[in-house]
Amino acid sequence: MKVHIIGLGLIGGSFALGLKKAFPGVAVTGSDASEAHLLKAQELKLIDGPATLEKAREAEVLIIAVPVDAARKVALEVLDAVGPNTLIFDAGSTKAGLCEAIAAHPNRRNFLAAHPIAGTEFSGPEAAIENLFQAKTNIICEVEKTAFKLQERALEIFQKLGMRIRYMDPASHDRHIAYVSHLSHISSFMLGKTVLQKEQNEKDIFDLAGSGFASTVRLAKSSPAMWTPIFQQNKNNILETLEEYINNLSEFRDLLKNDNFQEVFREMEKTNHIKTILN
Ligand code: NAD
Repeated sequence: MKVHIIGLGLIGGSFALGLKKAFPGVAVTGSDASEAHLLKAQELKLIDGPATLEKAREAEVLIIAVPVDAARKVALEVLDAVGPNTLIFDAGSTKAGLCEAIAAHPNRRNFLAAHPIAGTEFSGPEAAIENLFQAKTNIICEVEKTAFKLQERALEIFQKLGMRIRYMDPASHDRHIAYVSHLSHISSFMLGKTVLQKEQNEKDIFDLAGSGFASTVRLAKSSPAMWTPIFQQNKNNILETLEEYINNLSEFRDLLKNDNFQEVFREMEKTNHIKTILN
């Protein structure tokens, strides 16, 4: 099997490593807008070598793993270039805009819109992890718009990488992901900002930070270049959930102000329900 990956960061690099393990003998080429990332990906042996789109169109599988603002343009360029037997899939964290952008393309049936729910706060080729996708969910949108034979090829790849599949329409995907991923990132970024502001003259106070702070602020280390276009593309869903989050914070502040600790206890006790969902 020949695979070409566009965007050799955390996600593209992890696909490269995972596919090499799952499909011995696979040939993986890659390309990246950053010359430094392309060189690093070769040095780390994520890819066997670089390839232009002209050459890459011969691959059986083309993976798009670039930030979501670049993904629409790249997807259209790749759709223009491929023949009928090439599977193209993406990994972008927003789906409605991309699916709309490619909807009328004559080669739409080559494309499978996917979002692996797997990642870390790190980016670039050095962040690639061989088993990143193992036991993770991959959300597939508008599967009926992908040619059946190419759906089958994609499912074989995802299953070999150890992924579970969920099917969703793009609008539901973007709404749910705003709750469980995008809001968490905003919350972590703003928590990090608040603590940096409060502690700006006492840097060594961070020595006192425990694992609770480390885990809640972990996502604030994420790449602004990746997250700004995600927030832009999913703005309306994020604004809706952010409104509710801000209300909850305000209510909690008022409970404290009013010494209503019985209600503070009850709020936390109710939210402990999360233990039964996530362990
Ligand atoms: P990353 O920053 O690690 O890698 C992105 C790579 O794409 C970089 O090497 C960058 O140079 C390259 N690139 C940017 N524009 C390009 C273009 N026009 N053409 C070619 N290469 C280009 O980011 P990542 O974490 O690997 O994210 C890639 C995609 O996967 C994004 O769409 C993101 O939404 C999605 N995703 C990320 C995570 C996560 O946790 N990081 C999880 C699931 C999905």
